[in-house]
Amino acid sequence: ELEGKRLVLVSNGEPYKHVYQNQNIEIEKLAGGLTTGLDPMMQKDKGLWIAWGRGEADFEVVDQNNKVKVPDAEGYTLKRIKLSKEEKNGFYYGFANEVMWPISHTFISKANFKKEYWQSYQKVNKKYAESIKEELHSDDLVWIHDYHLALVPGFLSESNAKTSLFWHIPWPAWEAFRTIPWRQKILEGMLASDFIAFHTDLFVFNFLSCAKKIGAKVDFSAREVFYQGSKTKVESVPLGIDYQRFNNLAQDDDYLAEAEAVKASYDTEKLIFAVDRLDYTKGIEERLKGIDKFFEKYPEYKGKVTFVQRVAPSRTGIEEYQQMKERIEKKIAEINGKYQKDQWAPVKYFYGSVPQAELLPYYKAADLALITALIDGMNLVAKEYLAVQDSGVLLLSEFAGAAEYLDSALKVNPYNTEALADSIYQGLEMPETEKKKRLQKAEADLKEYDINWWRDYFLKKWVESYE
Ligand code: UDP
Repeated sequence: ELEGKRLVLVSNGEPYKHVYQNQNIEIEKLAGGLTTGLDPMMQKDKGLWIAWGRGEADFEVVDQNNKVKVPDAEGYTLKRIKLSKEEKNGFYYGFANEVMWPISHTFISKANFKKEYWQSYQKVNKKYAESIKEELHSDDLVWIHDYHLALVPGFLSESNAKTSLFWHIPWPAWEAFRTIPWRQKILEGMLASDFIAFHTDLFVFNFLSCAKKIGAKVDFSAREVFYQGSKTKVESVPLGIDYQRFNNLAQDDDYLAEAEAVKASYDTEKLIFAVDRLDYTKGIEERLKGIDKFFEKYPEYKGKVTFVQRVAPSRTGIEEYQQMKERIEKKIAEINGKYQKDQWAPVKYFYGSVPQAELLPYYKAADLALITALIDGMNLVAKEYLAVQDSGVLLLSEFAGAAEYLDSALKVNPYNTEALADSIYQGLEMPETEKKKRLQKAEADLKEYDINWWRDYFLKKWVESYE
């Protein structure tokens, strides 16, 4: 679908980092939907990927233009952006994670509208744009990713490059978006691209509504925005997982043995599992209230059900995140104190991020996966869990983007503690035939709308938008 054109990918996170291992420098592949989906295509088509170099040895291996071939000499080009400490604090921790993140997730009270953050965001977005311009060939396709880089299309508009933007997190209603003092500039920057995609129709609708409010002409049915003489096409293109990989895994004997060992290590009849980055959008505290209510309302499960909660550290430089960690740990201690008996405790908690390979046995071992995001762009854990299961139940927040596409999950409003407790009960008691039926439906969807579909469909719609 690229028709010989070169793809220039631009994201804040890089696909590979370089680190020191004893005396040597080694390369590490970074996991995540973006890398999983786009790295194979880049390996094949040899595009250019531009991203922030965060690895401790990242700038030891680059040439004078900050470029390096990844994963090896036969690979594609990664160009690294260097950020100073001030830029990291102002652009990344500041504007991206204390303004764009909370507002996009409709957590207005968590936003911090410091003028210095905005200045740094503009400066770093410009830096990305300059770095792109140095590399541009006339018929390149520039695919920009996510909320860190909203202004980049605007800074590239003079160059006549074809640009698109994929927004990986929600887009809020105007009532939330309008609280950003620089809302006009942000939308103007984004609307300089030919094509913008979100995970769901709701986010598309919210975005179109915001564009209209700042004075753009909007065709809601064609999903087109006309602003300052240019047209932007907007679409929903939900991110999928590498279904084949998860499905192969589910047939693998070593993997099945690892999953059994995990289950056995808890000495429990039923295992409930959850894993999240530590973030207020994930509803970890609401989930714990639901667990508390569950054991209160259904005491016959005491000693029989264990809830394993893994939490991966995230944005540890922001105080809000540190306080939340303390509240979570206090609540877990309280629940364990309340229901513990003999050797059994209701909640097992792990704090720390692990390679995905270490999580995967838990997916298989869990009778129930608990996803209670208060709002989420997509939530890949939901899809990964379903892809390896053959008899489990996914209890999924109706406010995760994934819920729009997974009819087969058991849906719940995570703010409703009573309903959460009842849904856990319902999930644990679900008859085997119903579980199988739901999982088959999910499997068909995950297989059809996988990561390759996402990439190809995005590129197809983008090319259509300017042809
Ligand atoms: N993940 C991981 N190690 C951890 C925690 C999570 O590899 O310790 C992976 C997980 O398998 C999933 C991704 O991180 O692929 C999280 O994606 P999701 O969309 O669920 O949430 P996000 O963190 O992007 O908000």
